[in-house]
This record gives sequence, structure tokens and C-alpha cells, in this order.
Amino acid sequence: MSTPRRPPLPRIDERITMKYGAGGRAMRALIEGLFAQGFPATPGPDDVTLSALDDGAAVRVGDRWLVVTTDSHVVKPWVFPGGDIARLAVCGTVNDLAVMGATDPVGLTCAVVIEEGFARTDLEALHASLRAACEEAGTTVLTGDTKVMGRGELDGIVFNTCGIGWASRPVTDRGLRPGDVLMVSGTIGDHGMAIMAVRHKLALEGDLRSDVAPVNGLVRRALEAGGTAISAMKDPTRGGVAAVLHEMAQKSGVGVLIRESSLPVRPAVRAAAELVGLDPLVVANEGKVVLGVRPEAADAVLAALRAHPLGRDATTIGTATDDRIGSVVMDTGFGRRLVAEPEGELLPRIC
Ligand code: MG
Repeated sequence: MSTPRRPPLPRIDERITMKYGAGGRAMRALIEGLFAQGFPATPGPDDVTLSALDDGAAVRVGDRWLVVTTDSHVVKPWVFPGGDIARLAVCGTVNDLAVMGATDPVGLTCAVVIEEGFARTDLEALHASLRAACEEAGTTVLTGDTKVMGRGELDGIVFNTCGIGWASRPVTDRGLRPGDVLMVSGTIGDHGMAIMAVRHKLALEGDLRSDVAPVNGLVRRALEAGGTAISAMKDPTRGGVAAVLHEMAQKSGVGVLIRESSLPVRPAVRAAAELVGLDPLVVANEGKVVLGVRPEAADAVLAALRAHPLGRDATTIGTATDDRIGSVVMDTGFGRRLVAEPEGELLPRIC
């Protein structure tokens, strides 16, 4: 089956607004319509490069793949319940490598841009957090850079990280076939709602914590159990699980059917999401994985996920279908409805 053309993307506005950074259709328009233009793919037919718009690139070297990913982190506030910008930088990069199949990161680069006036004690706390997160993920910072900008020229601090690792086989986000089982490694919406609760000073703030964590150990277990039966993987960050399922459906050329009753959502996240009028399905996660698995290996992969501390709440949420190619359909128990691809203006500076 040939991959259908993706729905046309919106034109990029004359001036870039916050919605272009929020992980929906607007951001995709900015990347696909501008930044990804004009960079030819590497010659390797099995390579995953910029035009694939995956979590990172995978370039074949001999009989394995060098996986590379890069991220900037601008989360506001830079410290939040459950984590801070340094932990987020390490986990975001380690997780992008892991979902490409590189679960043992060789190392990271770390560049920090600091606003004039930033407290040394705060930098020391972020440095301790950076080290702790690296230790947890079994990796290190290999090289880095620091810059300082004037007061008001930057809002506090920005981290940029790059990660490298090896994969025996890259796992993309486009390998789903009809019948594949879709699963998520735990509760959804925790990171985004924890940030929103702080920003909006919601009374529920105390019950909400970011899930930010390195998932490479968890993904390693899943790959050991499922091997090539794992057909697609992605970490549901900006745009949440909804954006990931849209990417997988459109790139794989399948439909996706999910059951609303199967989506794991903590009560505090559900309550906070209702208060601010958001669907947890579009809210960012920083310690979760969405996997597509061939049906014959689904039980083994699910058991492997659940045996890991970060995957205790792992569950199947639906299946890939040969119906409504490129769309995500939700079975609500009362009927079926289309899940829209997030546009992106709702949650700026979430990571
Ligand atoms: Mg990713």
C-alpha cells in the first residue's frame, strides 16, 4: 500500500507566533515548509534523515546505525513539580534516542544560554540535576558550551542538548500495519498538566507532578521482548498522544482506532485538564512511550513494560486498522468520533 499524501499544511504566517513552538500542525508547517527544505538525504537507503521528521536521525555505519538527536529546552517555569529544565534536557534527548532504538546513549552535548542576573545557586542546582539525570540514564555529558545574554534579552535560561547512540536496527514512527496493537507505557498528560497547574496557580497543584524520566531502560526491556515485532515507537511530548498517533497513522498509511476507556489518566490530571479545558490526549508527557507492536508479540511486550518501574501502568489503547487511512478515531463507548490533530497554540513553552 502506498502512503497517502498527508493533509495540506497551513501556510506559515508573516510573523512567527507562539503556536509554532507548541508541537501541532503549525510547528509541522514551519519545519516541513521551511527548515527541512533543501537538505538532501544521505546516500544510505536505510538511513533515517531530516525528511523523515522522526525523533532523530539514524545513519548506517557498517552493520549498525548511529542515531543522533538534538533539542532545545525553554520550559517555563524552569523548575516545576517533579523536575527542572536540566532533567528535562537530559530525559528529552535520551528518550528521543531510545524510541529510535538507541537505548544505550554514548553521551550528550549540553549548551546553556543564561540570562544576566541568574543566581549562581540556581545554576549549581541545575548542574546537580543534570548530573543526577545522566546517572539515572546511564550516560554523561561529553562536551558543552555556555553563553550569557543581557538582562531581558532572554527569559532566564535555555538548554540545548544533542545525543548520540547506536542502534542495531532503527525503529521509526512509520512501521505500523493494520492489526498492530498500540500501547502506551503509562498515564498520560502528567508533565503538561503539572506545568499548567503552576502557571495557572490551580488549587490541584499539589497533586500534579511531571513524569519527566529517562525511558531508555524501559524501551530496552520492550525491545528485548518484542524485537522486530515492535513496528513503531515515539515519545508523546508536545501535542501528546494525539499528535503521536496522527504521525504514526499518516506516515504508516494506516488508520488508528483507540478506546477512550483504555486511556490511563490520573484523576488529578483529568480534573486539572477539565478546569483549563484541555484533553489529556493532547497534553505533553516526558517519561512515556507509545508503541506499535505486531499482534503476536503484544502480550510479551506489554508484560515487559509492566515489569519495569516506569511501565507499571502500561496498557493497550487501540489498534492500527485499514479503515480511515491517516486518521485517528476514538471509540467512546457510545459511538465513534475523529480525534483532531492538535493545532498547537494551547501549550507553549512546555518543554
Ligand atoms: Mg520525540
